[in-house]
Amino acid sequence: MSQPSGNVMDKIVALCKRRGFIFQSSEIYGGINGFWDYGPLGVELKRNVKNAWWNDMVHARDDMVGLDCSIIMHPQVWKVSGHFDLFSDMMQTCRQCKKLYRADHVGPELAESKWFQAFRGLVAEHQEQPASQDFVEQWAERKGKKLAPGLAPAIKAIGRVDERLIEAGRNQTLAAKLAVYCPNCGGDLTDPRPFNLMFETHTGALQEDENKAFLRPETAQGIFVNFKNVCDSTRIKLPFGIAQVGKSFRNEITPRNYTFRSREFEQMEIEFFCHPSESGRWYEYWRDLRMRWYTELGLAGSRLRLREHDKDELSHYSCGTSDIEYAFPFLAEGDFGELEGVAHRGDFDLRSHMEGKLVAKDGQLVLDVGPDGKPKWKGSGKDLTYFDDERKERFVPHVIEPSAGADRGTLAFICEAYTVDESRPSPELMKFHPRLAPIKAAVFPLVNKDGLPEIAEPIYRDLRKRWPCQYDAKASIGKRYARMDEAGTPYCFTVDGQTKEDGTVTVRDRDTGHQERIDKSRVAEYLGRHLHR
Ligand code: ATP
Repeated sequence: MSQPSGNVMDKIVALCKRRGFIFQSSEIYGGINGFWDYGPLGVELKRNVKNAWWNDMVHARDDMVGLDCSIIMHPQVWKVSGHFDLFSDMMQTCRQCKKLYRADHVGPELAESKWFQAFRGLVAEHQEQPASQDFVEQWAERKGKKLAPGLAPAIKAIGRVDERLIEAGRNQTLAAKLAVYCPNCGGDLTDPRPFNLMFETHTGALQEDENKAFLRPETAQGIFVNFKNVCDSTRIKLPFGIAQVGKSFRNEITPRNYTFRSREFEQMEIEFFCHPSESGRWYEYWRDLRMRWYTELGLAGSRLRLREHDKDELSHYSCGTSDIEYAFPFLAEGDFGELEGVAHRGDFDLRSHMEGKLVAKDGQLVLDVGPDGKPKWKGSGKDLTYFDDERKERFVPHVIEPSAGADRGTLAFICEAYTVDESRPSPELMKFHPRLAPIKAAVFPLVNKDGLPEIAEPIYRDLRKRWPCQYDAKASIGKRYARMDEAGTPYCFTVDGQTKEDGTVTVRDRDTGHQERIDKSRVAEYLGRHLHR
């Protein structure tokens, strides 16, 4: 058995398309960058991820309630939250090929780019200064066909071979900081400039500024602005959380890495409200619990890590933030990508929605004021404090926010499940945790005759009442097993000649290929026990 390696991501993407997990959005029109569709297996898988989250975070707890808020909210929400002014990435454009980059992605992309790798080869061969542009061009010409695509035009485009580039050619770490050359063509990049990630739209018939609205870039704000509604309409008492699952939209500059960075995606967010004196403890509780959730659903500890943000990485209001990260196979060796952020947000959000947009000044949160001394964006003016009956105290609760991406989680579970077992006739299989598997079991008659379908069909109909199952009577039994392995179906039940004699069927385990016989009357009980093990 081998762990995936090499161009494993290409194989995963191919399997996901072939078996109907994930399709490119609007594929028949050439696709649209940053948008994805989930096929028949994918929709079940992602729903199982969201259901597992909802079940474990909401239903299984006494201190959590749910919400489902609208995607378009009052525009003031985003002004007060800071998204309108600050929710932007720094962006650079290549003056030559016009490609757009997120400024913090340029260095790493440059270091990986074909032309730069080839340029490093040149520097390595000529430890003495490859002094002039002529020298480089002659070298490029001499090497001719062997050159990585893009090097010769890149050198021309650069029009100079400066010291910094040569230094970076010698030193890969320095290259990552050289964010001035286009990783694609070597052209000059513009200076970084902010680019707001919120999608804009208009409500009503008139496309005027006063009707401008935004597609939410996170689900969290819907929770904050409903805090009072939830307190008034339920009997829940602090500490408690509000959970929401739903779509969010960000006009990402460079959507990439499959569904990892999309422009439309789903989030699973919790805002957990507590007394300020207890927020440090709750932060640690949620950080550790969320980390465990992923391992319990099958992500290997070795590919998962908890990264505590450095003090200078923290948002101005945060006393602590951790990212739960996964070593996705499309990342360079040793790199991890964020699955979920767990943030201690203090009282920033509730206070902002009461008072107006806040900024940090001398370690304090103060109202952001314009040059005229007036608040830049006014809050609702509503009282979002909480009165604690037991403490006899009124305060603005602190908030811990575990914010997970449903698509990134689903992608991590797909990558983790992908397994190649060369000893099998069809080596690719998906080892999903039984809770996440899109199809829980398949029922096959060994042959589609001799009275076997008459025994198999009732077994299937019985299982289907409780779990998503499939019935398949066509093709060789080996092919049918292989199809179920690729779909990640944990168990297959086969009715054969012996069933007619002694009432037993075979059950085959996806992961081991091991088969045993059980009585056909025990199939549902067997499946229930094994799925919930
Ligand atoms: P990144 O740094 O990768 O852009 P972020 O720190 O901006 O992510 P958050 O604002 O903390 O992300 O959002 C919470 C979660 O939502 C992320 O951990 C991720 O799982 C998910 N998420 C955010 N942006 C995207 C996206 N463009 N595509 C898919 N999922 C996303």
